[in-house]
Amino acid sequence: AVPLVNTVSTSIAARKGLLIRNRTQFEEARKIRRIVFDKTGTLTMGEFGITDTVPQEGVQAEELLQIAGSLESLSDHPIAQGVVRDVKAKGIALKIASNYENLTGAGLKADLEGETYYILSPGEMARRNIAYDVAGFEQLSSQGKTVVFVTKEEELLGMLAVADLIRDTSKEVIAQLKKMGIESIMMTGDHQKVADYVGRELGLSKVYAQVLPEEKSKHLQELQKDFQKVAMVGDGINDAPALATADLGIAIGAGTDVAMETADVILVDSDPRDVLNLIKLSKATYRKTI
Ligand code: ADP
Ligand code: MG
Repeated sequence: AVPLVNTVSTSIAARKGLLIRNRTQFEEARKIRRIVFDKTGTLTMGEFGITDTVPQEGVQAEELLQIAGSLESLSDHPIAQGVVRDVKAKGIALKIASNYENLTGAGLKADLEGETYYILSPGEMARRNIAYDVAGFEQLSSQGKTVVFVTKEEELLGMLAVADLIRDTSKEVIAQLKKMGIESIMMTGDHQKVADYVGRELGLSKVYAQVLPEEKSKHLQELQKDFQKVAMVGDGINDAPALATADLGIAIGAGTDVAMETADVILVDSDPRDVLNLIKLSKATYRKTI
């Protein structure tokens, strides 16, 4: 028989927008001392808009946007969705790209009219030894904008800055967690400067930037080494293995299917405030059972 207290807290949970998939891990939520948040789509809305178009000399802004939009139309990354929407909104027709390749956590590669193009992160530009305007780049990224580079083979065509909005509830959640003695940490594949900007805005105690998808669970294991219980909140784009590694995996409801399958708890309304409800409910449930 299901103990009455469990039935009660499960229905309270449902009302609070929490879908509990793993009862045992939910009970453990009261012991969480650290929470690792994914940035894009979790602390932020995951909805990007183009803020700056910076073509190289000899390249037209419209041409740069057309190439970027055509390449991104083959990707389902949140940056890609924003770029395609904004390029189309400017009335620029997209061309048909082919041979698409996702460079996980680093960008993409695809062909356009027989030539090979890339959209690359700053980290990937450095790995490939492609030079760019560092001062211009740093100015944009210190404003919290994510900068991506468009190249034709190794030739830089220009950079685009895209910006995402921090969820207005994120700051309040992090302040509340701090009051509860819980440390908030962010992990992102985005550049250090963008991560630092978000870290400052939200009062995060630590940020990990330029983390490749396969490195996320490794960092989580490090955070677990001093036997602190660590939760991870993510949308599943590149972070499903980390959700599985965490003592408590929490998926944002608007995330990917793999996140839903991996997580112990799902935040049905995609509201970071439900992380607070989850911990409070776990504490309350435990008090009643002893
Ligand atoms: P996060 O960890 O914040 O969710 P990702 O790991 O998904 O970020 O992406 C990391 C970085 O890789 C992005 O900030 C961007 O620079 C680059 N990137 C990945 N996919 C794309 C894409 N389709 N278009 C442009 N940039 C991309
Ligand atoms: Mg993400």
